[in-house]
Amino acid sequence: MERANDEGVTIPVGRGLPGVVVGGKTSGIDLDDIEQFPEDGEGACSQGGALVHEVVEQGAMQLDGESYGTAHQLGLAAQDEYDNSERGPESTTVNPDGTITRTTIYTSEDEDGNTVYTVQEVTIDQNTDQIINVETTQR
Ligand SMILES: [Zn+2]
Repeated sequence: MERANDEGVTIPVGRGLPGVVVGGKTSGIDLDDIEQFPEDGEGACSQGGALVHEVVEQGAMQLDGESYGTAHQLGLAAQDEYDNSERGPESTTVNPDGTITRTTIYTSEDEDGNTVYTVQEVTIDQNTDQIINVETTQR
């Protein structure tokens, strides 16, 4: 495949990065945000899944010149594969204290092949762009 760039991928990594919630368009990865996710995905997004998402996304943008939208979809697919779950509908709520909570429903299978629904609520302080809480619940 023709690459837009053969120089490799550069991803600044830090903690408490302003303007960065996990990662995204800005090409930084915020480890403080990643650490809020469960180590084991528990049926939803894990720390590893979040990291894989951002690295694949940056690779698609920097190496292949993909748009953020396309790169994000590739990142999501890689995350789902890593976590062995499938990301479903997402909604965003503004909380009374001004923080926002993004609620995403994931589906996965238990060892008997039954579908398991997992709700993951990610609460973000928009003033600091920090994830302040991640709650993962199987329904
Ligand atoms: Zn993304």
